[in-house]
Amino acid sequence: MRHKQQITVIGAGYVGLVTAACLAEIGNRVICVDADAERVALLAHGEVPFFEPGLRELIARNTKLERLHFLTSTTQALDGADFVFIAVGTPMNSDGSCDLSAVKLAARQIGESLSTDAIVVLKSTVPVGTADAVSAILRECGARGRRATIVSNPEFLREGSAIADFRSPDRIIIGAHDPAAVARMRALYAPLRTQIVVTDIRTSEMIKYASNAFLATKISFINEIADLCERVGADVTGVIRGAGADRRIGTASFNAGLGFGGSCFPKDVSALIESAQSRGLSLRLLPAVLEINRNRIEGVVNTLRRALGGIGGRRVAVLGLAFKPKTDDVRESPALALIAQLLERGAIVSAHDPVAVKAAGSVLGERVRLCTDAYA
Ligand code: NAD
Repeated sequence: MRHKQQITVIGAGYVGLVTAACLAEIGNRVICVDADAERVALLAHGEVPFFEPGLRELIARNTKLERLHFLTSTTQALDGADFVFIAVGTPMNSDGSCDLSAVKLAARQIGESLSTDAIVVLKSTVPVGTADAVSAILRECGARGRRATIVSNPEFLREGSAIADFRSPDRIIIGAHDPAAVARMRALYAPLRTQIVVTDIRTSEMIKYASNAFLATKISFINEIADLCERVGADVTGVIRGAGADRRIGTASFNAGLGFGGSCFPKDVSALIESAQSRGLSLRLLPAVLEINRNRIEGVVNTLRRALGGIGGRRVAVLGLAFKPKTDDVRESPALALIAQLLERGAIVSAHDPVAVKAAGSVLGERVRLCTDAYA
């Protein structure tokens, strides 16, 4: 029988919670730690701080089986750890670069408190070279004389289908220099029976950014084609069906609309551009991808203005508030950006989303009439 591993997951956000619950589900003992005491208290009472299909049930099941625990103290959570997953946020700095302060703080906490020889897994999306920086912090802080081996293991789950994505991913990326660490990571993920791609650490870090940048490019590409379709009298949905049927192209992430949003694509594309710039390389394609995306909202507002003969005083219903379906995550949601522009031009806005009304309400306040169903 497979030896059960003791795993500490730092960060109980979308990635941390899903990782913790899914690793517990395949038989490991997992402690998930978060600096946000309110969040941990909620989790301890069986509540999940955001909407993700199936997550509440998975957490409840594994908590009951005593395979999953929640704590606020990292020192306590690290006790006896075989693996430590860093799954904290890496938001965007004002210059477009990646804010690594939470990752570095987590590394210091691990360095100061680790009492076992453990594999430290970087799951957060981080620029190339971050694992080296984390290794240096771990060494500086002494890791209480313990051997902490760093591994890069970026996450590809999508909010809205996160559990299914974690359980049957297209591939698992393991970036490591130590063959023994690779073997232990392979054994940990063996129950998922999926393709594992092993690379050096820097390549692994780059794979995550290249993947997100490519998907963002695909979206901006089809949005630009959509604009041209409108001018020439073609139907972009038919173009997507026809072009997407080519397996080299595919229909995934190939929809025209308001553009991409969420907590990953915009910040990851920006971070890649910034990291190239800081090394004297000026990327040309990705700035265009961001610019096309930024212009989507204005394009829709202009279409509306033409169709309605002006926006001031007009009543507009917005269906969908999150950055995509089946999530209540409104970070960088194009719907909220659209609503802001409509309000600025004097529209009266009513809006509905099956799961994100509450989350959107905390951002929009009283300015929009939020409805509990689409008909309202
Ligand atoms: P999130 O903001 O939802 O959650 C991060 C959590 O980490 C927060 O609850 C925060 O309180 C906690 N935290 C921060 N520092 C901490 C510390 N030192 N100790 C304990 N807890 C700490 O973030 P997320 O959306 O889960 O993203 C996490 C990482 O995964 C990011 O790098 C992101 O780019 C990447 N990622 C996200 C997704 C996604 O769909 N959300 C998908 C793939 C990769």
